Amino acid sequence: MGVRYSYLPEQFSEIDDLIDEIRQFIPSGDFTLGKPLQEFESRFAKLLGVKHAVGVGSGTDALKLALKALGVGYGDEVITAANTFIATVGAINEIGAFPVLVDCDESFCMDVSQVEQAITEKTKVIMPVHLTGYMADMPSITKIADEYGLAIVEDACQAILASIDGILAGKWGVASGFSLHPLKNLNVWGDAGIVVTDNVAVAEHIRLLRNHGLQNRDEIVTMGYNSRLDSLQAIVGNRLVDATKMITKQRIKNAEHYDNRFRLIPEIVVPPRSPRMRRVYHLYCVLAIDRDGLYRYCREREIECKIHYPIPLYQQKGLQFLGYKPGTFPVTDRHAKEIISFPVDQYLSTEQLDFIVDTVRDYYGR
Ligand SMILES: *Cc1c(COP(=O)(O)O)cnc(C)c1O
Repeated sequence: MGVRYSYLPEQFSEIDDLIDEIRQFIPSGDFTLGKPLQEFESRFAKLLGVKHAVGVGSGTDALKLALKALGVGYGDEVITAANTFIATVGAINEIGAFPVLVDCDESFCMDVSQVEQAITEKTKVIMPVHLTGYMADMPSITKIADEYGLAIVEDACQAILASIDGILAGKWGVASGFSLHPLKNLNVWGDAGIVVTDNVAVAEHIRLLRNHGLQNRDEIVTMGYNSRLDSLQAIVGNRLVDATKMITKQRIKNAEHYDNRFRLIPEIVVPPRSPRMRRVYHLYCVLAIDRDGLYRYCREREIECKIHYPIPLYQQKGLQFLGYKPGTFPVTDRHAKEIISFPVDQYLSTEQLDFIVDTVRDYYGR
């Protein structure tokens, strides 16, 4: 028995209805900013309980346009997590702002005790990343942001329907970005993203920014981008959006199955699981002794485990301009050597989960 990582072939094994819907839609020619997008935006807003959701070209663009709409730009600093996916730092960089990194803690999210010392006169925004579907400590980050007059923009790309004290990821920031990339918990058939906000002015600004700053067909009121969520992708999104709750529940159930068993293996460290938090397991990550050996052992047995991420961003060639020396982020560095991700999606069977646990146990001779 092998266990694959991507479940997309299973997710779309029965697509006749969807293809029919697309076939019927195509003659309308309503491909950009069309009706399906409006429907998707309102359904997404409802799912999260927010006032506005604005569909854009990708999760990266969701973050970028949220920052831009808040007036962040050249010379400004945005504080974010050292151990994130490149897109977070990329979004900050794209608008000419400077990413200031903060190390993570054992939750894989930003270590809030290090945020204050990263604040300078140039800081405009704190951008916590809810990595793996675990949430950054938003109550503490909100306190710091309020004290220093900073805005929060959440990178909620991995955290749809995660919450702390019942408050959802995406609701803590002025605006927050989600990704609908094919491997995110709610996905479409390509790149897409969405920004949520309760602030009507921010929502309107993002609607302008995603469409060249066009207020109507002929009038440009600001310089913007071409970053729209296609109607065809919105049709796929409309098909799946109601399934998000079920997908989330199943991922949580799978993660609990793993947690209970991995906790019995001394070589595996399961991250802290705060009862105040609902984690949604975009990724299921643990720390492992002799990680590289375990990784190879699993791969040889056709378990498609992964490493998020083997090389810390600040050590990457393309990010040397940030100016961080090796060793600046010791927890991020250690996690790069110890972290391992196992498949946790909604299509896995109990047998597959147990096969993975048994394989890990075998590796350590337990
Ligand atoms: C996926 C992801 C993004 C970017 O999303 P795209 O849709 O791929 O542009 C940003 N941040 C994090 C943490 C992500 O996982």
